[in-house]
Parts: sequence; structure tokens; C-alpha cells
Amino acid sequence: MTPPLAIALHGGAGILKRSKLDAAADRDFRTALSAALDRGWDILQARGSALDAVETVTRALEDSPLFNAGRGSVYTSAGTHEMDAAIMSGREGDFGAVAGVTAVRNPVSLARAVMEQLDAVFLVGTGAGDFAHACGMAVEPPEYFHTTARVEQLESARRSNQTPLDHDAEVEKYGTVGAVALDAAGDLAAATSTGGITNKRPGRVGDSPVPGAGTFADNSTCAVSCTGEGEAFLRCCAAHEVAARMRHGGAGLAAAAHAVIHSTVPGKGGLVAVDRNGTVALPFNTEGMFRAWRTSGGRGGVAIYRGEQGETASPAERPWAH
Ligand code: ASP
Repeated sequence: MTPPLAIALHGGAGILKRSKLDAAADRDFRTALSAALDRGWDILQARGSALDAVETVTRALEDSPLFNAGRGSVYTSAGTHEMDAAIMSGREGDFGAVAGVTAVRNPVSLARAVMEQLDAVFLVGTGAGDFAHACGMAVEPPEYFHTTARVEQLESARRSNQTPLDHDAEVEKYGTVGAVALDAAGDLAAATSTGGITNKRPGRVGDSPVPGAGTFADNSTCAVSCTGEGEAFLRCCAAHEVAARMRHGGAGLAAAAHAVIHSTVPGKGGLVAVDRNGTVALPFNTEGMFRAWRTSGGRGGVAIYRGEQGETASPAERPWAH
């Protein structure tokens, strides 16, 4: 029997009213999500690893100025960029993360290098930068991470003294990125990358790079990547909570993921998750979440808003899976 394959990605959650995105922006986002998904799917179809697939998808989204990760990262209150990323293998439980990284073009690849080359699992700040240099990771000048829209977003947040989620900002609607995958060997993996939240205090780290909060993978249950109010996801170890509900409570993926987003997390956001059967869940409690997914069962799609069709991997799970 052909083993199941599945992949899902997100590009952040938030207000995302249809009226906020014009037709051209809507099309650009869908094209970027679809192109990133295709790259991951090609890897899975060629019997590549889930780890390679989630890293490749995340890198593609980091390289796009449309999303709040890598190139499109939001500004801190000091007018700088501090990026966080993590990657986890569900086979061994290996984990690598970086936080407060500047200049590194693809923080998710730095996180993978931490995972594969060091005994440490988490590097921050200048230590992470030094390691990136030692690994020969691509770095970019500050201009690479500069966009006029991001500066306007920062100025607006400063005026209102807020630290909005990217997609809740009035000026632009970009978001944290992440991916989960199941490969032909039955291995699961998850990755998440972010610039954090606009106008954040320098040194602030959200859920994205923290194991079990924004990113988690375990072959016996699921792989999860979260997006939303980082402090809320941190407080309840949201990604691990999905796996815990499956392992200890016997829940299926869709019900576990739905419960975490709609009753456990004390804040706004969503997640993408996949289990070892290739079921995908994409729940969010905001008005939208940039998302794309594909399974060898023939299901898949690209969606932004609540209520778009075809969001679920399994029709039986439809009430729970978005
Ligand atoms: N969770 C991210 C953070 O708090 C933000 C996001 O997902 O948009 O850093």
C-alpha cells in the first residue's frame, strides 16, 4: 500500500476581513502560499523527508516580503528586527531553535543547524549570530529586511502604544509562517518562523521557537505549528497540548486541535497540524488564517478567510478542522 503523504502551511492568523485585501493582494498571497506548498509537496512525492519539506516551505515563505518572517519581519519598538524560528523532527524528538536573531536570511535553517550540529537545542541573540557565521549561513544587510509598509506599521503601533498581531495591524496584513508534514517513511516534522509582533520590546520572544508552545512534532501523535498571540500560546504550551490530548485523552487530531484553539488558548490565533495517518487540521479563532494544504488522499487547497470551502482533510471532521 502506498504510504500517506500530507503537508500543511500557514502564513499567520488575524483579522483578515475580505474587505482588507484587494484582489491583487489576495492573488499575490494565494500564489505565494501555493508556490511554497508545491515545493514541499515535490519533496514528499520524491520520497524526501518531512524535515526537508517543512524547512523548504518555511524558507520559501521567509524569502517572501509578504510574510512576517525572514525578509518580511516586523520591527521591534527600537526599529530593529529580531527573528525567532524552530524546527522539530517527530522521529527522534530532535529540536532546534533560535531567537532574537538579526541579519540571518533564513532563521529556520539556522534552527536546523542547531538541531543537527550542536548538543544545545536553543541559541539566542549574539550567540546564535556567531553560530550562523560559523556555519556560513547567508546573512543580509538591514535594507534587505526593510519595507516601507513595515515602517508604517511600526509607526502606527507606536502611535496607539500597541503591539498588534501582524494581521491585526491597520497598515499591512502579513504573518508568521510555519509548516507541518508527513513523509513516506511515516515521519512527522514541524517548523515555524517569525519576526514576532510589531513594536515588541527588544528581547521579547513569543511561542514560535519554544518547544511545545509554537512548534511540536512526535511521530506517535502529530506535528503542529502555531500562529497568534505568542504569550497566550506560551502559557498553555499549545502545540504540545494538541499532542497530549491525542496521547492521553485518545482524541483524534481534528478534535484535539479544535479544542486547543477554541477552548485552551487564552488568546487569538490558529495552527496547522498533521497526524501519522495524513489527516490535516487547520483551526483558527480569528477571522482568517493564511493556509494551504495537500494530502495524497487528493485533498488540498489554499485559503485565507473563515468559511472558505475545502478546508478539511476529512469531510467527517469538517466541523472541527478550521
Ligand atoms: N506567534 C507569534 C509571536 O507571538 C506571532 C504570530 O504568530 O503572528 O511571536
